[in-house]
Amino acid sequence: MSLYFDNNATTVLAPEAFDLLQKASLEPMNPSARHLLGQRARSRLETARCKIADLLKARPAELLWTSGATEGINLCLQTITDSLASSNKEKGEILICPCEHAATLETAKHLEKNGWKLRFLKGANHGSYDVNTIVEQITQETKVLALMAANNETGAIQPIDQLAKIIASDYPDIHLIVDAVAAFTKLELTFTPGIRAMIFSGHKFHALQGSGFVLMRSIDQVEPFLFGGGQEHGVRCGTVNFPGVLSLEAAVEIYEKEPKIKWMQHLRLLFEKKIFESIPGVHINGPLDESQRLCNTSNLYFEQIDAEALLIALERRGLYASQGSACSSGLHASSHVLSAMGYTLERAQGSIRFSLSRYSQEEEIIKAVEILVQEVALQRASLSAF
Ligand code: PLP
Repeated sequence: MSLYFDNNATTVLAPEAFDLLQKASLEPMNPSARHLLGQRARSRLETARCKIADLLKARPAELLWTSGATEGINLCLQTITDSLASSNKEKGEILICPCEHAATLETAKHLEKNGWKLRFLKGANHGSYDVNTIVEQITQETKVLALMAANNETGAIQPIDQLAKIIASDYPDIHLIVDAVAAFTKLELTFTPGIRAMIFSGHKFHALQGSGFVLMRSIDQVEPFLFGGGQEHGVRCGTVNFPGVLSLEAAVEIYEKEPKIKWMQHLRLLFEKKIFESIPGVHINGPLDESQRLCNTSNLYFEQIDAEALLIALERRGLYASQGSACSSGLHASSHVLSAMGYTLERAQGSIRFSLSRYSQEEEIIKAVEILVQEVALQRASLSAF
């Protein structure tokens, strides 16, 4: 039995999406083609756009298809800062949470090289901000504020709705950009007024890898990100990944029908309760108030444990988890998220992220805890023998 606890890295394709793709893949599907088959694909593309925009309380014209969130984040940050620089002449400040995904951090660093000021938000409490702590750090120079709806490593939830409302009423010139990748389908989200752009990735919620979308207000005010044949308002040109869009639509439909948020929360609580009951010296990385963490994510610090060695031992037993973001785990660097939260290197190197999905089962939780109890005890015993 394979126990997959790494759903914040990627998820399996929803069976409904697989069925739909099998059928649809037998037809040519270029929504930009003028003939009847192309028009049919176009109509399905637009239906999917309306459905997903509607769920998020956005307008269909505010949704652009992308290849995923790395592209989405680059697109939003680069086009919005470009349009600000060309209208204001002066480049201002980008205020950013230090726990953002590498796609945001690296794009922001690139913009810094091009004359933008980069400043990191301070004052998070175990990874979550009080909205006033954020607002107090806004200055007259702040033009862009990037904050993820929830963190992919710790599940820490941010007060996006409250922040968006304050920005809409008191700081209408600030462009709030929200990475919604980890939060979407784990938390109810809407494209609240005050948010300029929001970014989503299909493979984090049971759609295809290489699929995604962004929501952006005032799309007509930005320059193209990818130049070409005029698709997607001329901002993101190139043939749309039509199978990807079908998979996004199917994955959104199953979420709408049955969100399963409570189910994942039940499983996460069960997992944590059983771990705390049976393994001493384990601590949560992230907000202590459990309602401030995503329903599917537990980031746990095991005292006197080398997480890398433990992950190898777990994998041998068929249990898959990770130390953090999949993109950087190959680098053997310790988590920038845990270090930005003020945790020691020792703590970061003893921490593992477990992330569930709508398909996770109670038996898997029980089995995973059983394996963890044994492997943690074995590693601690072998370390204390030296
Ligand atoms: N943002 C967050 C919070 C993520 O977890 C990830 C992927 O791990 C990304 C952005 C990048 O997403 P993609 O794999 O679609 O490029």
